[in-house]
Amino acid sequence: MAELILKDGKERSLFRRHPWLFESSVQRLEGRARPGDTVTIHAADGRELARGAYSPSSQIRCRVWTFDPAETVDDAFFKRRVAAAVSRRRALPELADQQGLRLIHAESDGLPGVIADQYGDTVVVQLTSAGADKWRKALVGALVQATGCARVYERSDSEVRGLEGLEPVTGWAYGSAPEGEISILENGVRLGVDYAGGHKTGFYLDQRDNRALLGRLAAGKSVLNCFCYTGGFSLQALGGGAASVLSIDSSGPALARARANLALNPELPAERAEWLEADVFQALREFRKEGRSFDLIVLDPPKFAPSAAHANRAARAYKDINLLGFRLLKPGGLLMTYSCSGGIGLELFQKIVAGAALDAGRNARIVQRLAGAADHPVALDFPEGEYLKGLLCQAD
Ligand code: SAH
Repeated sequence: MAELILKDGKERSLFRRHPWLFESSVQRLEGRARPGDTVTIHAADGRELARGAYSPSSQIRCRVWTFDPAETVDDAFFKRRVAAAVSRRRALPELADQQGLRLIHAESDGLPGVIADQYGDTVVVQLTSAGADKWRKALVGALVQATGCARVYERSDSEVRGLEGLEPVTGWAYGSAPEGEISILENGVRLGVDYAGGHKTGFYLDQRDNRALLGRLAAGKSVLNCFCYTGGFSLQALGGGAASVLSIDSSGPALARARANLALNPELPAERAEWLEADVFQALREFRKEGRSFDLIVLDPPKFAPSAAHANRAARAYKDINLLGFRLLKPGGLLMTYSCSGGIGLELFQKIVAGAALDAGRNARIVQRLAGAADHPVALDFPEGEYLKGLLCQAD
């Protein structure tokens, strides 16, 4: 096994069990390692500290698999890690019976570069690092064993693979396509999942609890759901007794799926739903001109800032939509606003929202702080895992 020798002092993050080693921390590689190969990690004085996956084309030169330098990284290792992640979820009552469930949340489950989402008896896996890519077979086998699922689909087509020098990989990794479409029941609502063509692994499981919360808030309200994707928030609002739900997304296919999802739930009042294919920034400006207003507005935009480098531009975009959101809120209305940008921290996001309320001339307060669901845990050693943050604000 090749040895990765760190620069003096650069072993400190390992003692905090942070799993990333940047190129700038590495002194040299002794021996040969191909992308994704396991290397032992040594402090400058030679102490062996950990084992990780080598990735020569990424700035994150090595992702730690284990902080125990004596632990072997082999098929059995991945079986243990996957089984542990699955049983942690089974141990949480709110997750135990979910049909749609994130089984593996990458670094926060001790498996950098590995995402696995379960939809009924189908698991969709996404491998985003050279190390994860190398262990595809072991990971898929471990997922099948831990869940007893019927099939595993690989959706490794995320752009970040490019940074690791990896080509996209998609297709059935185990089993074959089911007859008919895949759907899950979430908080009483049936939702189809386009695992092959949808975003990420097909669905945004992280917002499950927040969608349920919207359902509890929606009775009698006029709801505006911005960036609705396949209608998860919209359908919960309808189920919660909303008077009307206007949903906006710029993606035609996402809206088609949203309408189809509504049709999967014949008990929901379809006549109260309206779908609009439009750019949210433009649509909200139009609404403003038309003097429209809403009781409850959801803003769940895509990642405007994938990393801290994009934070400035992203901050302007967040400010812009939140400003428009506050302007369209009826007196006493609620704004449910999110950022899923790793590059925008909670504190900054709150400042942006505060600035937006101020500029909109609205007095508002935070009544609840919102985050991802429990199957998207944040390892205490890996604060970067906390990408999704939300605020529920009540305006005067
Ligand atoms: N709230 C959704 C997830 C939102 S994902 C859920 O609970 O499932 C972000 C969505 O924003 C995507 O569907 C994408 O198509 C849409 N989108 C991105 N930019 C947009 C824009 N400028 N205007 C409208 N929709 C946009």
